[in-house]
Amino acid sequence: MSQKEIPYKIYLEEQEMPKQWYNVRADMTNKPAPLLNPATWQPMTAQELGKVFCDELVKQELDDQNPYIDIPVEIRNFYKMYRPSPLVRAYCLEKKLQTPAKIYYKFEGNNTSGSHKLNSAIAQAYYAKKQGLAGVTTETGAGQWGTALSMACAYFELDCKVYMVKVSYEQKPFRREVMRTYGASVTPSPSETTAVGRKILEEHPGTTGSLGCAISEAVEAATSTEGYRYVLGSVLNQVLLHQSVIGLETKAALDKYEIVPDIVIGCAGGGSNLGGLISPFMGEKLRGERDYKFIAVEPASCPSLTRGRYVYDFCDTGRVCPLAKMYTLGSGFIPSANHAGGLRYHGMSSTLSQLYADGLMEARSVEQTAVFEAAQQFAKVEGILPAPESAHAIRVAIDEAIKCKETGEEKTIVFGLTGTGYFDMKAYERFNNKEMVDYIPTDADLEAGFAGLPQK
Ligand SMILES: *Cc1c(COP(=O)(O)O)cnc(C)c1O
Repeated sequence: MSQKEIPYKIYLEEQEMPKQWYNVRADMTNKPAPLLNPATWQPMTAQELGKVFCDELVKQELDDQNPYIDIPVEIRNFYKMYRPSPLVRAYCLEKKLQTPAKIYYKFEGNNTSGSHKLNSAIAQAYYAKKQGLAGVTTETGAGQWGTALSMACAYFELDCKVYMVKVSYEQKPFRREVMRTYGASVTPSPSETTAVGRKILEEHPGTTGSLGCAISEAVEAATSTEGYRYVLGSVLNQVLLHQSVIGLETKAALDKYEIVPDIVIGCAGGGSNLGGLISPFMGEKLRGERDYKFIAVEPASCPSLTRGRYVYDFCDTGRVCPLAKMYTLGSGFIPSANHAGGLRYHGMSSTLSQLYADGLMEARSVEQTAVFEAAQQFAKVEGILPAPESAHAIRVAIDEAIKCKETGEEKTIVFGLTGTGYFDMKAYERFNNKEMVDYIPTDADLEAGFAGLPQK
């Protein structure tokens, strides 16, 4: 254990920031299963993927051999505007909990998009620009990804078309306006601008939309417009790769003070922040150099890891995307209206799914009221108002710290604080009014989702 005084915030020097991303798949013995073409159940080729995604990103998606991939200098320069992000020692929280545990959090909310999503958005926009494309399309639910992508596209002067789930478009006008300020066009989904949107509107007039439907529209808009490609903010291997910058910085900052974590915790929606945070630590574990405990935290209302099936499924409700082998609740599963919009995804990154299947990572599900209690407890002593998604990780970090209090163990806990919650005040209002409910799907609810799994 180091004798050095640990500062409240550990920052890296600019020259200590990572110059390469780390690709954890390179160190995995059991590689994540490949994406399949749903028509043939054969692995998607680079050529097939290239119709939807940028060429360089397709290369990254399919690369499970190279452990390190250079971060282009243009992306590193952008990172410098808001990175390194601080690794904070939660001294006040430790004191409040009276725990012997040492708690650290990596804070990714220090940019206008308010979350870690900018780390991948800037990379994806860069490769689109480099390929000479005119623009990109995407979907956004709660709005964090759309905001991050709008910022990234503005920087590289790319057109950005965002399909925003209609209910969010109406309920989160401020997020919408941030995107428009950065020059993105924001269309409430389902819309009349695509064939799939018109079809859905005809079948379900008055629908307020869903993420799955917005994905289908964004993919159609990309593949039917010359010079456009589709980009995705989570789930894919390439996104986990870009997000490894979180884990690399965390590890470098800890190494600086000779701190070795025992437990690393992150919330898991599609798995990108968690995958990015744990990657370099997982690499050590996979290579047999060190052991860590990793915990993925998901909402009890959308429990893909803890109650899902590990099978091939569609990545989207509209069933236009390839099949991925992952822990899934079924692409038709509609989670209840949990306030952590970023965690309402039916599946999980295929990389994290494989690591979980191999027993290298644990998973826990938590109920939303308990999550908001943890968010409030954290906000009161650490000053930051967390995103509801991030508060899932806070919940389990606090639970683990309380366990240490009972056993007297001085464990070192690191968790990812993915973002701020300023656009989630409706959710906090519910919590403050004691109107928040916890909904846990029944086994019968889950069976209905599994019934829609694709059959070979
Ligand atoms: C999108 C989002 C998440 C969940 O996405 P992952 O890909 O699982 O990381 C978590 N926290 C915040 C703040 C988000 O915006």
